[in-house]
Amino acid sequence: MSEPAGDAKLEVKQASKEVKESENAAEKFSAMTVSKNSEMNMGELSSAFSAVPTHKPVKKQIQFVEEKQEFSRFPTKAGRRSLSRSISQSSTDSYSSAASYTDSSDDETSPRDKTQVNSKGSSDFCVKNIKQTEFGRREIEIAEQDMSALLSLRKRAQSEKPLAGAKIVGCTHITAQTAVLIETLVALGAQCRWTACNIYSTQNEVAAALSETGVAVFAWKGESEDDFWWCIDRCVNAEGWQPNMILDDGGDLTHWVYKKYPNVFKKIRGIVEESVTGVHRLYQLSKAGKLCVPAMNVNDSVTKQKFDNLYCCRESILDGLKRTTDVMFGGKQVVVCGYGEVGKGCCAALKALGAIVYVTEIDPICALQACMDGFRVVKLNEVIRQVDVIITCTGNKNVVTRDQLDRMKNGSIVCNMGHSNTEIDVASLRTPELTWERVRSQVDHVIWPDGKRVILLAEGRLLNLSCSTVPTFVLSITATTQALALIELYNAPEGRYKQDVYLLPKKMDEYVASLHLATFDAHLTELSDEQAKYLGLNKNGPFKPNYYRY
Ligand code: NAD
Repeated sequence: MSEPAGDAKLEVKQASKEVKESENAAEKFSAMTVSKNSEMNMGELSSAFSAVPTHKPVKKQIQFVEEKQEFSRFPTKAGRRSLSRSISQSSTDSYSSAASYTDSSDDETSPRDKTQVNSKGSSDFCVKNIKQTEFGRREIEIAEQDMSALLSLRKRAQSEKPLAGAKIVGCTHITAQTAVLIETLVALGAQCRWTACNIYSTQNEVAAALSETGVAVFAWKGESEDDFWWCIDRCVNAEGWQPNMILDDGGDLTHWVYKKYPNVFKKIRGIVEESVTGVHRLYQLSKAGKLCVPAMNVNDSVTKQKFDNLYCCRESILDGLKRTTDVMFGGKQVVVCGYGEVGKGCCAALKALGAIVYVTEIDPICALQACMDGFRVVKLNEVIRQVDVIITCTGNKNVVTRDQLDRMKNGSIVCNMGHSNTEIDVASLRTPELTWERVRSQVDHVIWPDGKRVILLAEGRLLNLSCSTVPTFVLSITATTQALALIELYNAPEGRYKQDVYLLPKKMDEYVASLHLATFDAHLTELSDEQAKYLGLNKNGPFKPNYYRY
């Protein structure tokens, strides 16, 4: 979803205010230290977890600016079975990595019409097929191999049980990687009920494996829109169980609780939100004075941002292009529009494979960076006739126009890595003189009257999200950040966080990074007392001010 510039500006302003506040909070969070080996001292950490305050949020009346379709009653069987569009905005701004084993399942019965029981006799879940547990367990074990940082957090905090008493209701993609997160939260003492933030992304066998271990999962791949809200409702509205924490990806769960069960907020200690869209909604609520509990914006934590934007795109741009087109990059002329985080990642990957890379930019600072990195900065029109591939990464609209598409050469590829599908003017290609030929999934040949073909990928939507996978390591960063944000909000003494949106304290962001260093056997240099004094830093961090640009 593209966000208007005005709102974006407002958000930035808002975020910087939060940074200040969260800085204070981080200072107070003194028990959380990074030790010599850049590892958190769990003994000290435990003291931070020991004080679990009684939270008494003032209930305010909540209203979302952008009201969603209401599902006031549960639908008929026929209604449930019809597949519909993905409702969650998060499908476009957060990631699901894996395809499901069970795609080919021909069992058409809706999970809502089945009675299923796990081996412990519980039927408090609704998944496609509980018998797929073993497959799911294997998927989770594979994911664990690249999520060692999260596992190490699990191991270190397991004895402290910093989430003892936490009742977390979650709405995220349900994949093997999320399962590693959920099982970590359980190991740290939480009870979890979980639903999917996207109707297509659930790995059915993983949902089954989680249900088998006692997590109440309500999700399956290919839910209808009605199923989607039904599953959310079953997670929140459980007999004898009331959540006190929310982990959301896209804001749909938060929205549902505000709308249907506002009283639940009396017990909620905090919301952790992962997606751009969900965070945007929280800032809107906060601005309107209608946010009634503290919320943590994990989307904008430094480590997560770097991995989602720069490193993830550096890894996945080639994957997406190769899977769809089998193109060879050596010697190819590629133009990357936008040299921000995403553009930098794409350029680095393409350059490494021997492509000749051009950059377009509107910002002189980013343009100069591109020059320093060895790329020719050009106007798109200067190279449009000669390039083999155009990749947009600007977050802007109409970056590639119909006029430019008309001038591209035969066989050239055009695709987008930016958030919304507004960057390439795809609508202008839907005219009678042009023929569209679907040659593969996510690959269209647009054919001009003279026979020229332009290869359009994913109809101009995000290439990597549509056509490749996201590395598990990236998801480990996100999951570790989410786990720490939950721990922080759940254990924060009263008054540390108000009814507002916060960024993760810098020290914890550094901790997420430090946990991941072990994967590479990387060893941090420790500041000497003299050096720490010279730089005016605490030896255990935070090492940078909040305004520092990494
Ligand atoms: P950014 O702001 O760092 O970079 C965007 C760059 O595009 C800026 O430097 C800007 O000056 C430039 N730009 C704007 N309009 C332009 C134009 N008309 N021509 C040339 N350059 C122009 O943002 P980012 O973090 O790089 O993200 C870019 C987009 O990618 C966003 O929409 C973001 O949501 C999305 N994103 C995608 C993924 C993914 O996995 N594909 C991951 C993270 C973010």
